[in-house]
Amino acid sequence: MSDRRDFFKKIGLIGLSGIATKLVSNEQLQALETLGQEGISSLPFTLPALPYAYNALEPFIDEQTMIIHHTKHHQAYVNKCNEIKSTDMDYQVDDITKCRQFDPTSKGKSILRNNLGGHVNHTLFWTLLKPNKDAKLNLPSGKLAEAINKDFKSFDEFKKLFSEKATKHFGSGWCWLVLRNNTLVIETTENQENPFMRASVVDNDTVKVVLALDVWEHAYYLKYQNKRADYIANWWNVANWEKAEELFNAK
Ligand code: MN
Repeated sequence: MSDRRDFFKKIGLIGLSGIATKLVSNEQLQALETLGQEGISSLPFTLPALPYAYNALEPFIDEQTMIIHHTKHHQAYVNKCNEIKSTDMDYQVDDITKCRQFDPTSKGKSILRNNLGGHVNHTLFWTLLKPNKDAKLNLPSGKLAEAINKDFKSFDEFKKLFSEKATKHFGSGWCWLVLRNNTLVIETTENQENPFMRASVVDNDTVKVVLALDVWEHAYYLKYQNKRADYIANWWNVANWEKAEELFNAK
């Protein structure tokens, strides 16, 4: 549990805030406690500043997209989280941490799941992007590169599989590189869910997120319109491998 707490500190989710400190006491629900401990440990939730300028990811991700994505979409998730009454929050957070399957008939729960997930996922995503003005070849190195070669045969093979999976994911969601039980795997999640929310986490899986890609249309539509594959092909230029390695190597 402390590993996960440290992990979220490292990815910059501290300081968000503490309504759900109750979560910490629930020993069985480690995966989503992670979100609870650092992601919602105090109120109000706040929009984290980007570690670069809005135009810094040009030409691969355009300034206007970054401005709207950060100040409108991410801000909206933050606002929604803050709007949820604390009395409701106690119940809903408890439900989320049990990694229950999303219940479309339960509106209140989905509101929290979607918006808290949106806040956590985007907070992580911004740190996993990095300017690359000179369009230099952008590759992982060190132990992460070794692990990618081991689990996917080569970086090119990994890139191909990740791109395919991200492109083909139906509708809104995320594509992730995850270290699950010491093996790197590519996973996608619906809407604003993330690998920590999956039921399999409860079954004693160890899960570490290494890389995240937002494949919602709002992440690319202004520049790439409907061409998600082109957005993904360009995103590889600004994937922050240093950050990914830091996450991979984190205890
Ligand atoms: Mn997004």
